[in-house]
Amino acid sequence: MTVDVVVVGAGLSGLACARRCVDAGLRVQVLDRGRRPGGRLGARTSDGHEVDLGAPYCTVSDDRFRAVADDWTARGLLRAWTDRFRVADAHGLGEAKPGPMRYAAPGGMRSLAEDLARGLDVERRVVGTVGPGPEVDGTPARAVVLAMPGPQAVRLLTDPALQAAAAQPYAPAIAVAARFAERSWPEFDAAFVSDLPIRWLADDGRSRGDGAPVLVAHTRSDVASIHLSAPEAAAASVLDAMRRVLGVPLDPIDVIVHRWSFAHPREPRDRTFFLTPEGVGFCGDGWSERSRVEAAWCSGDDLGAAIVEQLA
Ligand SMILES: Cc1cc2nc3c(=O)[nH]c(=O)nc-3n(C[C@H](O)[C@H](O)[C@H](O)COP(=O)(O)OP(=O)(O)OC[C@H]3O[C@@H](n4cnc5c(N)ncnc54)[C@H](O)[C@@H]3O)c2cc1C
Repeated sequence: MTVDVVVVGAGLSGLACARRCVDAGLRVQVLDRGRRPGGRLGARTSDGHEVDLGAPYCTVSDDRFRAVADDWTARGLLRAWTDRFRVADAHGLGEAKPGPMRYAAPGGMRSLAEDLARGLDVERRVVGTVGPGPEVDGTPARAVVLAMPGPQAVRLLTDPALQAAAAQPYAPAIAVAARFAERSWPEFDAAFVSDLPIRWLADDGRSRGDGAPVLVAHTRSDVASIHLSAPEAAAASVLDAMRRVLGVPLDPIDVIVHRWSFAHPREPRDRTFFLTPEGVGFCGDGWSERSRVEAAWCSGDDLGAAIVEQLA
């Protein structure tokens, strides 16, 4: 079968783009190097419990994304979690600050990507080269999409002008998940943390509603930068920060450490995608004013619509 569009990257942006193209009748192939789709909606299993190590929740403001989120909610894949996160520092948990509703996934955020991927032609493959036109590892298509952080896209591109268009600095993060024999900390959903090596601490069992005794923290980017080559070395200081925030001794029975070399774009963009007249496109959370799950979906959907129009 000849493919019209090859999408490299099965994160939320690539899957949204692929869906939009398939819905318009185009033949689409999605390639991803990961064992499962989802990208930065990453999760690992601890004692049968799926733990979110990437994005722990999403927010919803765009009407198109709201329709998708409402459908996920109706089918039990997404649930309204909380509109109040605490602030915290080395002295402990502080006040709860009101904000937008945060939606979490009972089966882990990756289940949302797996749902979008259902029915799509997704193949596990590490792509080595894209370009100079719409070609993936030397095989041409009518359009090719790179749906991934800029630094990862730049590595694949052969054309210097396209490399310049894709280039964007990204900040790293290290996620640490700790599972305990039982819950021993004060009740909270999640906290934005300052003045400690972590910037975020969440009760994973409360986010998905099953009450599992699991905490997840994300480091600051400067802390992640120091530990990128050996992320396990960050675990001790992260666990110490968890103890200081929650004010109780914590003795985990399982600890998972995950490195995100490209966690968040350091600079925003004022457009949601990039597409050349030849049919090479870029999308992802880097193509937004603020890196978020919702922004990644919108970017992919916008690029998909542009490709449909261009190939018509
Ligand atoms: C620690 C952390 C916390 C976050 N917290 C939140 C949050 O609370 N709320 C929120 O809304 N967002 C959050 N985010 C951001 C959110 O996860 C991202 O905005 C979104 O998932 C990005 O989707 P994407 O499709 O743009 O990219 P990605 O999900 O990164 O997808 C890129 C895909 O490309 C694939 N790929 C790369 N190179 C190749 C190759 N050579 N060959 C084949 N495949 C390749 C990768 O395997 C990956 O699957 C967080 C992110 C991180 C890392």
